[in-house]
Amino acid sequence: MGKQIMLSGMRPTGALHLGNYFGALENWVKLQNEYECYYFIADWHALTTGYEDTQDIKSNIYDMVIDWLSAGLDPEKCTMFLQSSIIEHAELHLLFSMITPLSWLYRCPTYKDQMTQLKEKNIASYGFLGYPCLQAADILMYKADAVPVGEDQVPHVELTREMARRFNYMYGDVFPEPAAKLTKAKVLPGTDGRKMSKSYDNTIALADDPETVRKKVMTMVTDPARIKKDDPGHPDVCTVFAFNKIFNEEGVEETESLCKSGGIGCVQCKKNLAAKMAIMLTPLYERRQALLQKPEYIREVIEYGNECARKIARKTMADVRKAMKIDW
Ligand code: SF4
Repeated sequence: MGKQIMLSGMRPTGALHLGNYFGALENWVKLQNEYECYYFIADWHALTTGYEDTQDIKSNIYDMVIDWLSAGLDPEKCTMFLQSSIIEHAELHLLFSMITPLSWLYRCPTYKDQMTQLKEKNIASYGFLGYPCLQAADILMYKADAVPVGEDQVPHVELTREMARRFNYMYGDVFPEPAAKLTKAKVLPGTDGRKMSKSYDNTIALADDPETVRKKVMTMVTDPARIKKDDPGHPDVCTVFAFNKIFNEEGVEETESLCKSGGIGCVQCKKNLAAKMAIMLTPLYERRQALLQKPEYIREVIEYGNECARKIARKTMADVRKAMKIDW
């Protein structure tokens, strides 16, 4: 029995931060040991909401792959490729767009959500409405058994399964129905306690050097009710404590009781956290620095992944054309 096939992608929107790392990347690194993993740089998906400004897309791709590699993705264990280099994704997207009822696309929950959230952008485009067809093409191209997703992404995988069923019903069995592999992401707030997001300027980037990380930790918001060092604290409202849950698992209970009893001051507590974070993040930072010295290697990783992905995509498209009887 071969390994099960797993596929996931990320939009190249710039340097990744710790929220991205714990939200997806950490899990990807684990999965590469258990599954046959395909991880793609979703540059066409980035165009669905960012087609007006493509200035940074190339450098974002480069930065993101450096982040992937420094986080531990290994080209010997998984296939990393660039979506727009595998032109077959566009063909399958087009064919799915022929067989997908408009009502399926309009009812997709993120369609309405994003139309409201991104009001300032003009995203009422054909490409944006149809992006679930592109997503289905990405997944089904590799006949993935599973897609790692958070709860909010489950409807997308369901839509992909519906498209696979519809295709198979009309033209014969070509695609398996991929399962949603639910992953409980660790949620990390930004340094100001809000959601970690570049638009709030509250991120800690994977590319940040240890000293920058330390400085950012020292600015984190804590329990506002704590005025004096020995005031009893409320760790549940404190950003530093939320970070402790991830970076200081073995010492989190002690931190909690020290905080509640007023046995530790916030400055010391932050210093302790910064030291724990340095243990975990410094090796990653050092790998990043080494990778920056060899830009040609980053290109090689992508080119190699593209070749592997392209072979499978060509085979799948041959099956698809044959099943649809458009293989003349
Ligand atoms: S002692 Fe630590 S956990 Fe408690 S409020 Fe201060 S920084 Fe937060």
